[in-house]
Amino acid sequence: MNYRHHYHAGNFADVMKHILLVGLLQALHKKDSPFCYIDTHAGRGWYDLAAAPSQKTGEYLEGIRKITPTKQPPSTWITDYFKSIDLLKTDLGKAYYGGSPWFALQLLRPQDRMVLMEWHPVDVEKLKQNFYRSPQTFVHHRDAYEGLTALVPPREKRGLVLIDPPYEEERNDYPQVVELLAKAYDKWPTGTYAVWYPIKDRAPIDRFERKLVKTGIRKQLICELCVMPDDNALGLNGCGLLIVNPPYQFAEEADNVLQWLLPQLSQHVLAKASVRWLVAE
Ligand code: SAM
Repeated sequence: MNYRHHYHAGNFADVMKHILLVGLLQALHKKDSPFCYIDTHAGRGWYDLAAAPSQKTGEYLEGIRKITPTKQPPSTWITDYFKSIDLLKTDLGKAYYGGSPWFALQLLRPQDRMVLMEWHPVDVEKLKQNFYRSPQTFVHHRDAYEGLTALVPPREKRGLVLIDPPYEEERNDYPQVVELLAKAYDKWPTGTYAVWYPIKDRAPIDRFERKLVKTGIRKQLICELCVMPDDNALGLNGCGLLIVNPPYQFAEEADNVLQWLLPQLSQHVLAKASVRWLVAE
């Protein structure tokens, strides 16, 4: 396990993922009954962008530093996203940026619960320290590939799973993720699932999509943001969020949000953003 999220926190991929996460959690507020948020690869919960790892890569400069809420946000997802960041800055300092558990915590109501899994021994300790004050948060030092299937369906029977692995070994990671999703879905077919994935080259993504279709799972929506053309050899050209069982009208709003983000995060004239059904109803 070499991947550490503190090198990448606040990059364009985090911005896209966290805004869509806010949208998915907001939709769960439409009913009063409790929901459970499960984060399979939680990281530390928040990050200091002034610390050495962020300063070394400077990835946040192409992400959170480039977007601004004053550019007429088309959605309350963006307003709530910035509110959460402002809250963290007020608590901890101006250089801080939230991780997925932080954004989720802001959208938990008293009746809701979140379960966070993290496998890195240092990061899980940080995560426990960061969230010990929240009685609604349960942190597990656990391998997501074993833990998720053990935890679903949650007793609330309503909720969201974020699957956000590091993709250290790309060849194995995409198929492993599809297998994990399919196993969890078998046990909890009514849950909403959001699976983040990197786009460095289109060929592995095409294979990933074919495997996803073969699972037979209905209602698979793909949201993508590519800040560079797919075939640029330098590294992370874009990212996607696959959503299984997206909320009603999520696709339309996600498209508006991505089209708002695109000009702000673009690094190339061929940058693009899209929302499409991989498998419809
Ligand atoms: N979801 C976080 C966020 O948005 O702020 C970022 C997560 S980061 C991309 C991936 C995390 O997964 C890392 O913190 C890594 O230590 C952890 N990890 C790696 N392998 C894991 C496994 N098998 N089970 C659970 N966590 C794992």
